[in-house]
Amino acid sequence: MGSTAGPAKPLPGDVTSAVPEAPLTLADFEPRSSLQVTETVVDRPRYPVIDAHTHLSWGARSESGIFLSSERTFLSPPEELLPVMDRCGVKTMVNFTGGYGAGLEDCLARYDRAHPGRFLTMTEPIYERFTDPEYPRLQAEAIEQAHRAGACALKLLKTLGLYLRESITTGPLVAIDDPRFDLMWDTCGQLNMPVAIHVSDPIAFFAPVDRYNERYEELANHPDWSFHGRDFPSNEELLAARDRVIARHPRTRFILLHVGNFAENLAHVSATLDRFPNTTVDIAARIGELGRQPRAARAFFDCYQDRILFGTDATPHGYEFPQQLFNERLYQIYYRFLETDDEYFDYAPANVPPQGRWRIYGINLPDAILKKVYNANAVRELGIKLQQE
Ligand SMILES: [Zn+2]
Repeated sequence: MGSTAGPAKPLPGDVTSAVPEAPLTLADFEPRSSLQVTETVVDRPRYPVIDAHTHLSWGARSESGIFLSSERTFLSPPEELLPVMDRCGVKTMVNFTGGYGAGLEDCLARYDRAHPGRFLTMTEPIYERFTDPEYPRLQAEAIEQAHRAGACALKLLKTLGLYLRESITTGPLVAIDDPRFDLMWDTCGQLNMPVAIHVSDPIAFFAPVDRYNERYEELANHPDWSFHGRDFPSNEELLAARDRVIARHPRTRFILLHVGNFAENLAHVSATLDRFPNTTVDIAARIGELGRQPRAARAFFDCYQDRILFGTDATPHGYEFPQQLFNERLYQIYYRFLETDDEYFDYAPANVPPQGRWRIYGINLPDAILKKVYNANAVRELGIKLQQE
């Protein structure tokens, strides 16, 4: 030292003083782990898999995020999906976003009927008819029609509770337990057609997007994913409204997606499953949450092994979620999480973890539980006929 003219210039080869001139931005920070740990590549699952949560088609979306037409855009033809499915041991993919009416018919013809046993399709509510005074009856009839056509279940996106408004795209938000949907829930129960329901979102999406938000980078990249402020209900209010629906319709079966939409709080999800025997959950897009609490997650799988469905949220071409891009890598990560006790690995194939900067741990499920989660629970819940291998 001894100089008065500011920091000394680093000498060539003097690595100890190689400090960057400007502070590193968060986006440029990509630390590489120094841990030397086992990496198990699981190409094939131990049992045939039913991916009970995928998106193979979408409708056109209004600016406010609501799908308002029966028309479907098909993300990949079955001929492109089947070879990947075969390589990954995926017997069946369940397409959640099959729409209704002519679009649904189109999905069923292209996937379900053209390749029996490989694809199943769910129907969705017709929100474009919501302002019709006859909506409850029209909706119930549409469910009956979809059931006759071959739809395996009804799927609800988070549209209900967070996007659908009294005048569809304007006005106050419509509550999840609005009585205008009671006939829809009942009709599903009468037809023994399960309801796959997405309610709310990660709790970080309801918190201020600031230095304390653990999903800051994700929300900074997608500001429209934040439900903080404005007239949005809280996560607790959304889940409570969902629970009132489940309580009011005990003969309807509900698949509570994304680990009951509260994977950050497995005690809460457990209480929901305990309270409502007509519920199951899937794990789609939540191994990042489950895998960062591996001991609690393992206990959860032990306890609810008959009520957990395998799902990935896989979307051909990734849509707007690159971490859900349908390919071999996606399935390998899920299989590694469920089947191994590997430590500290990425939950998504990305340089920066997309949902938050942490890594996950495998939970090493025993065969009996794996079999239920990979296929037996979905076979039972969705009425799938799985031919013996
Ligand atoms: Zn999904």
